[in-house]
Amino acid sequence: MNVAGGMAMPARPAPETAADALVVEDVSKSYGAIKALDGVSLRVARGEFVALLGPNGAGKSTLFQLLTGLFVPDAGRIEVAGFDMRHDARRALARLGVVFQQPTLDLDLSVAANLRFHARLHGMGRAARARIDAELHRIGLTARAKDRARTLSGGNRRKVELARALLHEPVVLLMDEPTVGLDPASRTQLGAYVHSLCTQRGVGVLWATHLVDEAESADRVIVLHKGHWIASGTAAALRERTGRQSLRDAFLDLTGEAPAAKEEMV
Ligand code: ATP
Repeated sequence: MNVAGGMAMPARPAPETAADALVVEDVSKSYGAIKALDGVSLRVARGEFVALLGPNGAGKSTLFQLLTGLFVPDAGRIEVAGFDMRHDARRALARLGVVFQQPTLDLDLSVAANLRFHARLHGMGRAARARIDAELHRIGLTARAKDRARTLSGGNRRKVELARALLHEPVVLLMDEPTVGLDPASRTQLGAYVHSLCTQRGVGVLWATHLVDEAESADRVIVLHKGHWIASGTAAALRERTGRQSLRDAFLDLTGEAPAAKEEMV
């Protein structure tokens, strides 16, 4: 028993059972004189779909660079599935899946080879083949496994990037403006698939976007503006809080910015 001074102390949960998939606590990051993030805190629960809504320059990409270990925060703490990014980066990163804003498939490799490359990076060994088959089946691209990535449509390339991000069964999935360049049907399909990852596989998703429409269906919306956390809540709660009819107007009230409307989407 964990006892201190005669009092039973609650044991800290073992990392693998930590309730939160992702914890960001009081994180700051500057580029010289530019403060890209200023004391930002947020949480994503297991199985929760959280939209990180912010206009250009809000600090979304900077936050993702910190979450993926490309940069180290000037201050603050990041935890993935209970593992601290600063002190236990290897185990934290092993539980993180990422789809970057810029396409990252090797277009001259086959779909399967792109996935195998990632599996090797994660040291997946013999488990890789079955996992690759399963993820390709889930996204309906089994028949394209041997095709060069170059021959896929933009929507299917994104699906392969998503399958790759899920190969090692992450606890948290980060998606940075994942619908940029996709047609409306592919955008809808991608969104629905990622929602199903939360409900069916318990993945915690942080979906960064500047598009209000994409935030509407999130379990929770976090508004980020000029490096500051502004608000967090369901779309309905943010509308109620600002007394506005639409999330778009609520966002405008909260930030004074005009977000991109659906009509402005590619
Ligand atoms: P966007 O969608 O336009 O990338 P964002 O919300 O992802 O916007 P960031 O790219 O994180 O925002 O940028 C936050 C702030 O930090 C901006 O003022 C940006 O100009 C600045 N910034 C980002 N990267 C750098 C860098 N490498 N050097 C200097 N300033 C940077």
